Amino acid sequence: MWVVISYDRFVIVDWSGGNDTGKRPRKDAIWFGVADRKGAESPRYIRNRMDAEAALSGLIQDALNTGERLFVGFDFPFGFPEGFARGVTGSNDPFAVWDWLEHHVEDSPKANNRFDLAAKINRRFPGVGPFWFNGLRRDIPDLPRKDLRKQHGLPERRRIELDTPGAFACWQMGGAGAVGGQILTGLPVLQRLRARFSRQIAVWPFEALDRPVAFVEIWPGLINPIVKEAERRGGLRDAEQVRLLSLAISRLPPDVLCDMLDVSAPEEGWIMGVGHEDKLMQAASDLRPPPLRDDCFALPAGVDWTPVDVALDALRSGLHPILGSEEIKLSEAAGRVLATDMEALRSNPPARNAAVDGYALAHACTSEDDHVIPLVQGRAAAGDPFPGSVPEGHAMRILTGASMPEGTDTVILQEDITSDGTRIAFRGPIKPGANSRKAGEDVSSGDVILSQGRRLTPADLALCAATGIDRLPVFKRLRVAVLSTGDELAEPGEDISNDRIYDANRPMLQALVRQFGYQAVDGGRVADDREVLRRALNDAADHADVILTSGGASSGDEDHVSALLNEAGSMQLWRLAVKPGRPLALGLWNGTPVFGLPGNPVAALVCTLVFARPAMALLSGEGWRVPAGLMIPAAFKKSKKPGRREYLRARVRDGQAEVFSSEGSGRISGLSWAEGLVELPDGPVDIQPGDPVRYLPFSDF
Ligand code: AMP
Ligand code: MG
Repeated sequence: MWVVISYDRFVIVDWSGGNDTGKRPRKDAIWFGVADRKGAESPRYIRNRMDAEAALSGLIQDALNTGERLFVGFDFPFGFPEGFARGVTGSNDPFAVWDWLEHHVEDSPKANNRFDLAAKINRRFPGVGPFWFNGLRRDIPDLPRKDLRKQHGLPERRRIELDTPGAFACWQMGGAGAVGGQILTGLPVLQRLRARFSRQIAVWPFEALDRPVAFVEIWPGLINPIVKEAERRGGLRDAEQVRLLSLAISRLPPDVLCDMLDVSAPEEGWIMGVGHEDKLMQAASDLRPPPLRDDCFALPAGVDWTPVDVALDALRSGLHPILGSEEIKLSEAAGRVLATDMEALRSNPPARNAAVDGYALAHACTSEDDHVIPLVQGRAAAGDPFPGSVPEGHAMRILTGASMPEGTDTVILQEDITSDGTRIAFRGPIKPGANSRKAGEDVSSGDVILSQGRRLTPADLALCAATGIDRLPVFKRLRVAVLSTGDELAEPGEDISNDRIYDANRPMLQALVRQFGYQAVDGGRVADDREVLRRALNDAADHADVILTSGGASSGDEDHVSALLNEAGSMQLWRLAVKPGRPLALGLWNGTPVFGLPGNPVAALVCTLVFARPAMALLSGEGWRVPAGLMIPAAFKKSKKPGRREYLRARVRDGQAEVFSSEGSGRISGLSWAEGLVELPDGPVDIQPGDPVRYLPFSDF
């Protein structure tokens, strides 16, 4: 399965080298942006570095206590240009610099020694030394107020900064946007946190990200356009920077985040996301619906065996669309779900044109009689209009789809005339406007042509193209992870003993998911082991919007799906009055809805079609959908007692619904034999051959 780095919580820190900024939230203070899969919190104002260190400790401790993985981004460099570390500490190891600073920086809410320390470092290098800018009133020997540096022997910028227009060099200790003071006051804090949470924090890109907490260098300048936009709407710059960046990073698909983290910069460090600015901004701008509520699968109280219709009503009212939208090309839109109503951008047809090949003339010059009418030289063809106008009493050759020339409103079919090349003869009467199409007679510009929630058909694409639309806003494709559970299961093709069976559900359910138009994500095959299943569910929740599991959904010893969902606190065990089908376990895992289907393949298929299908349609933005079904005479006899709704594997032959000979729920051959289901009502029935029954073709779901 996946070897990706993923995190549950994202904290973005806007650091500050300045002094305590007071009680009221202000700019140029320290700000934390915190986001998780539910979205971004409102940014936290932190008045000084001591409070920031305590707050970071708290966040890290919380993450370790709850087993969550925490990503913390800081907006200052983790390393200096090549050669600095050796010059100060004698080693190229960036952590030697962190340690050195931790020992030499003196910091308190109201004052710190950053300028004096910069001067002290300058003395270790030739020339004036690399640091400049003195923010204090008193002069500091060896720290010039202006940039008078020469020949300090170090690069002006780190390699990554050469690719990052607008990023400041580490050497500037003050002035708007400068970062020098932030590094000197920030790294000691990070170094102390590393020591306090020994081996729990990995610092990127110096260490492998296989620890629960990651410290990563980030730079809000990468998303400046959307920050400016938020400022225009009245936001405070520093707060918007951390809010938007935490939101953006929290929403990156794990593989994209991995891609951004895949760099090597052993001494200088790197800025995460350089070169991926568009992806970050896109992720932050994407407006998404709110997450599902923890009780979204709650059933009405006091019902013992829940009737199918009650269960469906509960799904329908508890769930809502969960996907953001994206804009895609028309040619790729078939099968996708429209995220907004679409209006025609132009009329169809855009101008009056000919519906047939023939002759165009003004209806006013015709009567009930026979006519002989002179032809105007030239012709009008589709895409090649006649530039002049047709004089009264004249006609012009015209081809299907050509705009009607000025002076004409009616077309006479070419089969209805005779011609000598200069005149045409025909019989009246002719209907006004005959054989021509009025501008906009199909669609007028501005008409709503398709509604939100529409699953786009091939014909819809024709309609959009004809009315001037080439890009369409659609809901993101629903990603559905499918995973199977059971110690007995093996991968098809594996050499196994007769005590084991092949995993039949996963290929079936993945194919179904694709037929529904969703993206199937392989969640794998999981043994009956709670910890392994927990990890598989975590992975699935990271990669998918919905999880379908099969097996282990009841309440026995090896029913780990329901046990884990129970533990997560959002589980509902649905005891449904339906056959086939044992309990369904429903719940949220890390906010992602889980449909815990029975392991039995027949029950798994029926429960997917009857319950998971309409629920997924609702989640995907398409809206609730129910199969239309049709009444067909039965080719079978069957009597059933009241209490449970029944679904029989069925198909239609010679206009009659046949059902599979055995109702045994382990019979996979019957599933494959069937082309649909016969639905028998909750109440008692006694069906005789020829009685109408409700048949639901598989293609209706
Ligand atoms: P369970 O719901 O886990 O108790 O499983 C019920 C029955 O379905 C057992 O006989 C399982 O062996 C069988 N089963 C579970 N998962 C699968 C699967 N993926 N493919 C085929 N049979 C399965
Ligand atoms: Mg099992």
